[in-house]
Amino acid sequence: MKYKISVISGDGIGPEITKCSIGVMKSLEDKLNIEFELLEIEAGDSALKNNGVALSDEAIDKIKTTNACIKAPVGESAMEVIVKLRQLFDLYVNLRPAKSFPTVKSLDDDIDMLIVRENTEDLYKGQEFRIGDKAIALRTISEKASTRIAEYAFNIAKTRNNKVTVVHKSNVLKMTDGLFAECANKSAQKNSNIIFSEMYVDACAMNLIRNPKEFDVIVTTNMFGDILSDEAAQVVGGLGLAPSANIGDDFALFEPVHGAAPDIAGKNIANPIAMILSIKMMMEWLHTINNDNDCQIAAEIIQKAVENSLENNIKSVELGGKSSTSQIGEYITNYISNYNL
Ligand code: ATP
Repeated sequence: MKYKISVISGDGIGPEITKCSIGVMKSLEDKLNIEFELLEIEAGDSALKNNGVALSDEAIDKIKTTNACIKAPVGESAMEVIVKLRQLFDLYVNLRPAKSFPTVKSLDDDIDMLIVRENTEDLYKGQEFRIGDKAIALRTISEKASTRIAEYAFNIAKTRNNKVTVVHKSNVLKMTDGLFAECANKSAQKNSNIIFSEMYVDACAMNLIRNPKEFDVIVTTNMFGDILSDEAAQVVGGLGLAPSANIGDDFALFEPVHGAAPDIAGKNIANPIAMILSIKMMMEWLHTINNDNDCQIAAEIIQKAVENSLENNIKSVELGGKSSTSQIGEYITNYISNYNL
């Protein structure tokens, strides 16, 4: 099948890792019955500098014509790009898997968890203001958003190990997290076959390090999910390996968890795997909504290619290796091109 994909190359290390990801998509096209029409979208700090706006209406209109978006990190204007896109397209689910990889130092073997983060509200709505000498941020948690994210988490748990942990801080944030916990509990009652537990966010931060294998699906609010998923990424090897998906009812956007990493930009040392695994998540999503088996095969080949690269010590500097961004990209692309179906 043919898919129209919008591509945001972003800032910092964004263009380097995007180049590798496009290479991966091209190698999939050669191998399988999949065709990508890529639509380059200018967004982020460079767009802000060139056009005075980080995400223009024209860019949004272009994205609307596509089936999905693949996005590299943007720099200082991240809020104006990703938060806006999540809200505009109502991408209410943020999936952030953390799974141990072969030969990568991880806190334990066989860690395999999925953070299901609510993606549209909480403090990240950015409703802040100043009154005199005070700065105030509003935290919005709604029954609708909490219920749909809880439902999503329970449904996805059925495709995994039937286990959900809801993470919140309802003992302090009695109204907001109280409502979130209440909605999760209602979903738990409807799904009595799923092992359900509740955990305060501070205890979760500790337990992710003390016993990461305890977790399977974690469902939580926007900001806690953002913080815990960076921690979970490090537990299994680092941000350079952490992909994510932002999913709505009829559109989805895929991006690495990490930021634009300006400290290593332009040096050809960034790890492109987080973005390549985000392409894998896109292929899984395209499979789910189009029932296109080639997309599922593509996702499996990407996973094997990444594992094979790590097993053969094709590792970036932050993982203790010596391979450059382009070398990792080429290795993975070649693996896919030579893969025996
Ligand atoms: P943001 O707030 O946008 O998430 P940040 O500055 O907090 O960004 P990152 O840009 O994600 O964080 O980078 C944090 C650190 O991790 C940096 O020192 C960076 O070099 C490193 N890092 C992030 N992504 C990668 C990557 N793909 N490969 C190698 N190192 C990375």
